[in-house]
Amino acid sequence: LPAFDPMDPAGIDDLLSADELAVRDSVRHLCAERVDPYVADWFERGEIPDIRGLTKELGALGVLGMHLEGYGCAGMSATEYGLACLELEATDSGLRSLVSVQGSLAMYAIWRWGSEDQKETWLPRMAAGDAIGCFGLTEPDQGSDPGGMRTRARRDAGGDWVLDGRKMWITNAPVADVAVVWAQTSDDPADIRGFVVPTSTSGFSAPEIKHKMSLRASVTGEIVLDGVRLPADAVLPDVTGLRGPLSCLNEARYGIVWGAMGAARSAFASALSYAGEREQFGRPISGFQLTQEKLANMAVEYTKGVMLALHLGRRKDAGRLRPEQVSLGKLNNVREALEICRTARTILGANGISLEYPVIRHMNNLESVLTYEGTTEMHTLVLGQALTGQPAFR
Ligand code: FAD
Repeated sequence: LPAFDPMDPAGIDDLLSADELAVRDSVRHLCAERVDPYVADWFERGEIPDIRGLTKELGALGVLGMHLEGYGCAGMSATEYGLACLELEATDSGLRSLVSVQGSLAMYAIWRWGSEDQKETWLPRMAAGDAIGCFGLTEPDQGSDPGGMRTRARRDAGGDWVLDGRKMWITNAPVADVAVVWAQTSDDPADIRGFVVPTSTSGFSAPEIKHKMSLRASVTGEIVLDGVRLPADAVLPDVTGLRGPLSCLNEARYGIVWGAMGAARSAFASALSYAGEREQFGRPISGFQLTQEKLANMAVEYTKGVMLALHLGRRKDAGRLRPEQVSLGKLNNVREALEICRTARTILGANGISLEYPVIRHMNNLESVLTYEGTTEMHTLVLGQALTGQPAFR
C-alpha cells in the first residue's frame, strides 16, 4: 500500500493526471520562491510591492486567463485552472484574487462578450501580465442586488458613450490599466451593458480603499466615473442584462471553490506541524484527544472540499457544470475553509493570532471570500431555489 500522506489523507492526487500535477507544481514553485517568504509582510503593510512585476511573472507562467483559448491565453483545462487557484490561495487569498479578477472577471468578460477588436487589443497584453484588469459591478448602494445599479451610460449626439457613477470594493482598480464596468443604459433594469474602459480615460479615477482587516495583500479601490467619454465601440457588443456580469462571476466563483481549500490546506499544515512540536503537560499537544479530534475533522473537511472541487472541475471540463453547482461548491468550501482556519487558530494558542504563522491571515482573508462573488446567504438562496423551485430573494 502507498504510504499515508497527512496532506492528502484520502489519496486524491491519484485522480490527477501527470499534466495536472505539473501545472500544480509549477504554480507551487512560483509561490514558494516569489511570494511565500514575503506575503505576511505585505499583509501587515497592506500592499503588494511591485505588483506589476509580480503580474508579469504570473503571466509568464501562463496562469492569467489560463483556461481561455486563443489571444495569448494558455488554453488549459478548468481542472488545471482550479489546481492553480488552490496553490495561489494556499499562499494568500489576495494573490488568488489578483489572478481571479484578471482571468475570470476582466479577461473572461472581454473573451466571452467582447468584439474581435477588444479581444485583440486587450487579451494578449492581459495574458502576459503587461496590462492589469479590474471588474466593476458592486456600487456603494448595490451589492448583492446589482440589478438596481445607479451607474449610467448614455449616448451623446455624436454616438459616443458617456459614463457617470461610482463603483465600490473593486479589486485591482487603483492599479488597473483597463476596467470592465457595468452600467445601465436606460431606466429599464434589463438594459445593463458592459464597457471596456482604459483607466487613463479622462474622468476615470480609482482611489484606494484603506483600513481593510482582510485581504490586505490585495489592492482594492473605488471607481469614480465622472463624465467618462468612450467611443461607440467601447461597449461589449454581445450581451445585455445581468446575464453578462453573472456569467463572469460564475467563472470566478468556480476558482474560489478550489482556492478556499488552499487557504484551508495552509492552515491545516501549520496546525499539524505546530501540534507536533508544542509541548504542554509534558507531551506534544498533538497527543491529546481533543487536539486529535480537531485535526481529524480538519483533514476530513479538507478532503471533502478538494473532492468536491475536483468533481466540479471535471464537470466543467465536460461542459456539464451548472451555476447552482458552483453555488453549492462555494457555499460549502468557503464555509469549511473558514472553520478549518478557526480551528487551526485554537491549536496554535496565542501564536494563532500572530502573523508569524499563516493562520490568522488566511482566516481574515476568508472573511472577504465569504462575502465577495456572492455572499453565503446569496448562494444559500440560489441553492434553495434550485431545491424548492421557490425564489426567496425578495
Ligand atoms: P449587501 O448586499 O449589502 O449584503 C449585506 C448582508 O445582507 C449580507 O450578509 C447579505 O448576504 C445579506 N443579504 C442581502 N440580501 C439578502 C437577501 N435577499 N436575503 C438574505 N440576506 C441578504 N465587487 C466587484 O464588483 N468587483 C470586485 O473586484 C470586488 N472585489 C471585492 C474585494 C473585497 C475585498 C470585498 C470585501 C468585496 C469585493 N467586491 C467586489 C464586492 C462584493 O462582491 C460585495 O461586497 C458583495 O457582493 C456583497 O455586497 P455588499 O457588501 O454590498 O453586501
